[in-house]
Amino acid sequence: MKIGKCENNKSLALLLDPEKADLNALPLSADCLPDFIFVGGSTGGDTTAFVRALREKLSIVNSQLSIILFPGNAAQFTPEADGILYLSLLSGNNPEYLVGQHIKSARAIHDSHIEVIPTAYILIDGGVETSTMRVTNTRPLNPNNAEGVQTIIDTAIAAELMGKKAIYLEAGSGAKTPVSPDIIRAVREQTSVTLIVGGGIRTPDAMQAAYSAGADIVVIGNHFESHPEELRDFCQITQSSPNTPIPPSSSDERFMRLALCEAEKALEADEIPIGCVIVSQGQIIGRGHNLTETLTDVTAHAEIQAITAAAQTLGGKYLPDATLYVTVEPCPMCAGAVGWAQISRIVYGAPDPKRGYTTYAPRAFHPKAQVTSGVLAEECKTLIQRFFAGKR
Ligand SMILES: [Zn+2]
Repeated sequence: MKIGKCENNKSLALLLDPEKADLNALPLSADCLPDFIFVGGSTGGDTTAFVRALREKLSIVNSQLSIILFPGNAAQFTPEADGILYLSLLSGNNPEYLVGQHIKSARAIHDSHIEVIPTAYILIDGGVETSTMRVTNTRPLNPNNAEGVQTIIDTAIAAELMGKKAIYLEAGSGAKTPVSPDIIRAVREQTSVTLIVGGGIRTPDAMQAAYSAGADIVVIGNHFESHPEELRDFCQITQSSPNTPIPPSSSDERFMRLALCEAEKALEADEIPIGCVIVSQGQIIGRGHNLTETLTDVTAHAEIQAITAAAQTLGGKYLPDATLYVTVEPCPMCAGAVGWAQISRIVYGAPDPKRGYTTYAPRAFHPKAQVTSGVLAEECKTLIQRFFAGKR
């Protein structure tokens, strides 16, 4: 799961309330998907059953997007989700929502191993009384005068100093006015953690304004309970065409050379020389080369070896921050594995018109994955040719 801050990466979260959302009415499809689904409400509902039903719905559209809890209280925790916004209501001074519910749910969350995102939850007056205000018995911060704005910014700064990994500016479900771009911008300038903005965002223009002001994640919610057909317009803003090709970066050659070193190892073992490395935050977290002969296993491709190694390094099966470098265009099997691992960028060297995924499974990667091809293509191809020349 990728919820951390990522340069120029704007994400859309759809908030579903288990008590209100009609999963059958949501037009989720491969080309109409948010980046995350937040699940929660201020009162309750059977979160476990809802997450299961949601997961089933998503599996039909073959989506692996993350389901993240946005709990109104400790009872809404379920280990069935992928992650949880561990919300602390910093805009109010009710200890129950600053830390009380956290203690009640701590052991269950700890034992579940789901991803925990420590999040400062900051309520900002959106012109209506919200259920969150009633339930938590707190007042939102006032965005309409200088003192109030300063308090909002200072609360956000305090959140980062406390170690929160995300700041959630919330105008409230059904807000008349969303959090203003000026406030988003001011918070963005003073903090560097993931900035989530929600409440009262009903048009793609409002969403775009929040992104332009510095929001990393925009949350859209109960508007779609009555207007599910409009979801597509929002998804299209963050959803570029599948697997956008992007030009190589300066470090791509360096990592492709390391993938070539892996390919050389395969060659030495008399295997078809294909090599792969997986990189996250500038570090290699997995490497592998083709081992189909050695292991007598047709699935022992370089990418599969590297994905397994990377998952072991990180201790999690999803690799959304990672870039995979492979010397030859992945086959459909490996492209499928890359998709399942949610790898967000794929760089390959030589094309493989006969066996490559672009011919047989062009949509196998995660819908937002970016692909760069042709890096050191000649060297990658020459290595393969040397192998087959030696066989003749
Ligand atoms: Zn393969």
